[in-house]
Amino acid sequence: MTQSSGVDLFWGALEKLSDLDRVRCKANLLSTRRRYVIQRWGKDASEHFSASLPEGLRRSYESTPMPFTWLPMRRLCDIDYAIWQRFMNGSVDEMRGFGSAVASLDLDMYRAFFRIGTPEFFLSRGGAVLRLYFSEGAITSVVEGRVGRHVLKDIVFPAYMCRDGISGYVDCVTRASGGREVRVAHPTCVHRGDAECTYEVRWS
Ligand SMILES: [Zn+2]
Repeated sequence: MTQSSGVDLFWGALEKLSDLDRVRCKANLLSTRRRYVIQRWGKDASEHFSASLPEGLRRSYESTPMPFTWLPMRRLCDIDYAIWQRFMNGSVDEMRGFGSAVASLDLDMYRAFFRIGTPEFFLSRGGAVLRLYFSEGAITSVVEGRVGRHVLKDIVFPAYMCRDGISGYVDCVTRASGGREVRVAHPTCVHRGDAECTYEVRWS
């Protein structure tokens, strides 16, 4: 970890990361990582990367899990960290792209489902959408016109996931349910010292 005063570029405020082992996530989130690496850097690069991982992580990276089983969130984050180190040289800009690209892959299996609703419908049910992927956490959502505001509760994601992954996911859900010219902001974040993480999405 690159660290300065307890805040890591990737993980965020280290003292707030107690949820990594408590929270479980859907196993299909794991398979999107390998798909992303193969799509972007090729099959050989993915195999070399896999061989460089410690045994436990390698098994998770290589496995094709049943989509609706659960695993500790830490496993997913450790793989993301290894990908970021290996392929992106720890670049913050690359991490942004990675967060939103995997969010889009993560949404793939629900894409048809999101198409039958509207942004208003799904954004006002943020908590139900979160539970498609994570065992803990809640979201308070308020949608007024074409603006949705969300407060994340009872769960702390690592900084990269909270900033790039969740923002990217909100962006994808809004588009998948018919929103255009989508803009997502993450105005407050526990990793920047705020009391809670909030997201604001606007569309037309
Ligand atoms: Zn945040």
